Amino acid sequence: MQDRVAVITGGASGIGAATVRLFRDQGARVVIGDRDEDRGSALAAELGDDVLFVPTDVSREQDVAELIAHAVDEFGQLDCLFNNAGFGGALGPVATTSVEDFDLTFDVLVKSVFLGVKHAAPVMSAQGRGTIINTASVAALQAGWSPHLYMTAKAAVVALTQSLAMEMADVGVRVNAICPGAVATPLLAGNPKATREDIDRLGATFGASVPLGRIGEPIELANVALFLASDASSYITGQAIVVDGGSTTGKAWQEWPEFTRTHRPIRHHRPSDR
Ligand code: NAD
Repeated sequence: MQDRVAVITGGASGIGAATVRLFRDQGARVVIGDRDEDRGSALAAELGDDVLFVPTDVSREQDVAELIAHAVDEFGQLDCLFNNAGFGGALGPVATTSVEDFDLTFDVLVKSVFLGVKHAAPVMSAQGRGTIINTASVAALQAGWSPHLYMTAKAAVVALTQSLAMEMADVGVRVNAICPGAVATPLLAGNPKATREDIDRLGATFGASVPLGRIGEPIELANVALFLASDASSYITGQAIVVDGGSTTGKAWQEWPEFTRTHRPIRHHRPSDR
């Protein structure tokens, strides 16, 4: 990532903040777009001149256009756009979900990705290169991981990723999505001000059912974003990469008591044992 320029939305916290730090450590210049001005400006100040913060509401086209323009004006290019900002969206049963909450959920989770790519595409097309990474979720792939609208919105992010990858392959731009399982961030706790202790308490509950035995850390998602942003993934586009400690793979067959109770060891099927 040496001398590359990345825009990272939702870069003030969680997965985005871990990615800002990692990309910076790898030599990139980074522009954080986030609506959390306190955390965003504090992170940029901590990391020095190569990291800038632009107050951004990713659901507003003007904000997103200014974010992309700022990166190009200040650093002269745009190599990576990480559309990562997000929130939990509307909760509750369908009958009591308001249309306003539907719109807000889709504005923040889906329209934001469309807007980011809409404004990055002309820059990357002119350069003839670039990488776009969109944060989706395992909730996009399987019911039960989130409320209705979060699932639907993240499924739309995966679909948009695939469709955009087809359009942008011609101009040398790769587009991929990351599908995290449960990750130790304030979003998991449903509270932007959640402390590490709050998150760890929840993580212990969520982690118990994860095959790898724990929830993910933001850096483990940042590492995948780094791979997708870099030339190490040069032949990968249009993919939704699942990073969930095995949560969506299934369960160990030994967990079905019927198997171990009713199935005899395989040697009983060998001719010599008959
Ligand atoms: P987080 O709460 O730590 O970070 C989200 C960031 O997005 C915050 O800094 C917040 O201010 C910002 N943001 C929210 N709405 C915004 C808006 N309208 N405009 C600009 N910025 C906005 O949460 P996180 O877990 O790091 O979330 C990052 C992404 O990962 C999200 O897209 C989320 O849906 C996705 N995700 C998270 C998990 C998880 O378990 N943490 C699982 C699957 C997917």
